[in-house]
Amino acid sequence: MNAAFQSLCARLQAAGVPDARFDAAQLYRFVTRRDPRLDDGPTDAEAARLDVLATRRAAREPLQYLLGEWDFLDFTLKVGPGVLCPRADSEVVCETAIELLRNVPHPTVLDLCAGTGCLGLGVARAYPDARVTCVEKSGDAWPYLQANTMDTGVETVRADVFSWYRTLAPESVDLILSNPPYLTAGEMRALMPETSHEPAMALDGGTDGLDFYRLLCARYKAALRPGGWLVLEIGCAQAAQVLALGGQYGWQNGRCRKDYGGNDRVVVLQKPEKDG
Ligand code: GLN
Repeated sequence: MNAAFQSLCARLQAAGVPDARFDAAQLYRFVTRRDPRLDDGPTDAEAARLDVLATRRAAREPLQYLLGEWDFLDFTLKVGPGVLCPRADSEVVCETAIELLRNVPHPTVLDLCAGTGCLGLGVARAYPDARVTCVEKSGDAWPYLQANTMDTGVETVRADVFSWYRTLAPESVDLILSNPPYLTAGEMRALMPETSHEPAMALDGGTDGLDFYRLLCARYKAALRPGGWLVLEIGCAQAAQVLALGGQYGWQNGRCRKDYGGNDRVVVLQKPEKDG
């Protein structure tokens, strides 16, 4: 154990960083490529770089942004300022979509509000024969989506989901998955320090947090084939409201699934086999 690492831990702890020791170890390893537990200490150049990153982390910039990469399921994504960080909570959303597609040959899949592309890329990795399209509006998120989807076969579209549905052929899609912005106005006013560094566009779901669920339920059913699925990430208190919206807009077999932290996280809605 070396003094520089100890003081890095103390500095992050003093700044209120949750799990300060973990973050300190990640930053130390990132800069030195060595294990802080076995290392004698950073060189001057390394210490200078570490200091810059410690200052940013102490200001509660997300660790993901400082490292520039973050793992999701069994792969690694490019991340940074301007795009929502991939979260472990979202993995169950992707896994749910993968399970639903198990017996669907050559599925056509949309990831709406894709951000880094984590959900769509997870599906594409599970089903190399799938046709996956990631849709993202943000110019700041776009370069990350481009980098992450490069050479994967996943298509990308820069579009606003509030109008893009008009371009879709009826009954042409097997499954739509989305982690849309879903925070309420009240939640937007009380963000965690780390989350306040993330783009509001990726978080703000309107006054009651449900704007995107209303849109997706109302406007994206026509594009799904009968029996197709809408797989939505939700906030942990939104299950009842989103399931109710699904019923209101004529979806069937609504169900909710928890994430690995035990919170409600996914709502699945199915388009009726015979619509109408
Ligand atoms: N899970 C995120 C948070 O609570 C919100 C992501 C979203 O709005 N899609 O910070």
